[in-house]
Amino acid sequence: MDLTLEGKTYVNGKFEQCCIGVDDGKISAVKKILKGDEHYNFRGKIILPAGIDIHVHFRDPGLTHKEDFSTGSMAAAYGGISCVFDMPNTIPQTTTLQTISDKIISAGKKSYVDFGVYAGVTDGNIKNIEELATKCCGFKIYLGGTTNSLQFSSDNLKETFDRIKSTNKPVLIHAEDNNCLVRHNLKENNLVDHMNSRPAECEENAIKNIIKTSKGTDTKIHICHLSSLEGIELLRKRSKNISCGVTPHHLLFSAQDDLKPQSNYKVNPPLRTNFDGEALFTALKNGSVDILESDHAPHTIEEKDKEFDAAPSGVPGVETMFPLFLYMVQKEKLSFQRLISLLCEKPAELLNIPKGRIEVGRDADFIVVDLDKECKLKSENLHSKCGWMPYEGMAAIFPEYVFVRGEKLIEENEMLGSKGFGKFVGE
Ligand SMILES: [Zn+2]
Repeated sequence: MDLTLEGKTYVNGKFEQCCIGVDDGKISAVKKILKGDEHYNFRGKIILPAGIDIHVHFRDPGLTHKEDFSTGSMAAAYGGISCVFDMPNTIPQTTTLQTISDKIISAGKKSYVDFGVYAGVTDGNIKNIEELATKCCGFKIYLGGTTNSLQFSSDNLKETFDRIKSTNKPVLIHAEDNNCLVRHNLKENNLVDHMNSRPAECEENAIKNIIKTSKGTDTKIHICHLSSLEGIELLRKRSKNISCGVTPHHLLFSAQDDLKPQSNYKVNPPLRTNFDGEALFTALKNGSVDILESDHAPHTIEEKDKEFDAAPSGVPGVETMFPLFLYMVQKEKLSFQRLISLLCEKPAELLNIPKGRIEVGRDADFIVVDLDKECKLKSENLHSKCGWMPYEGMAAIFPEYVFVRGEKLIEENEMLGSKGFGKFVGE
């Protein structure tokens, strides 16, 4: 056996004092006692599956002044994320076989962690869905306009679902109805204006349309970053093929909070009321939400510093997501079972990858955490190229060790991994 780890390990929904055996990057045994060529005893710490972030914008290619695949994936590794899935709104957009292949090759040379790539569906490439599926890990649709989004008319939703069904891959949807957004559009000076300019009604309309249009199909549909009480209510009794996600920023902030500078918290869908935030947190706890996704969308400080109306939407978050929520678990605001389901098990299921659980046959992706080691978040300690974050000063617990396919990427909070170690998970 190449490697064994010993400690309090999260297996089958509970903690057990045991050993994990690793061969060729895969978990080969989980037993009371094992001894490999290399052995780690993590006494007093816990071993969890590493996280999977199904929603990042690493801005590479084309927008690499904001982030690139090496800085973004390094940030992911430090945050306990062993696999990321990158969105298509780069320049060029990944809407053709060529641009998807190019991104996979380029990211493969730069990434510290494993990765997948989505194909963007636009009005112009629906006929190519089956072909795109030979390369991509899933599809992304923007029903409403947002920063650098892709043109898609909801009239094409039915055909898109039908074509994606045969590919067996999921489709992720930004659910804000564009007609509704256009109707409410106003000049914005602050977060409350932004919320009123993109009201919950737009999310509600988009979700209703998705539910109606997808009736009778079992295409795997994931509704990204839910932001409203209305959205949660609509999805409470969703059919099995529909899942939904929520971001840390929609859970932790509201448009009514005293947030400064305001444009740093401008996101789409927008931050809403305290009511919405509380409803999202309840949904997170009771299982009405399936996945926690960062929607890591970095912009430079200069870009965010513009007048509110002109500032782009999006915040970074891939490095802070697992640590912020480990702290919340430690404070008993959320259970380990829920957190591991949200960040590991359900994402692996949605994207159909052999990660997300400590189980024989799966990838040996782990994090090792000392729950007593809280810290206060500081931008200068993070690794995204953008150099700022919305969570300054908040409490978090970072993993001390991160293993990906049995390789030790992080040891005592230091990077040992290298660029290009990360592998494309779609082959
Ligand atoms: Zn996004």
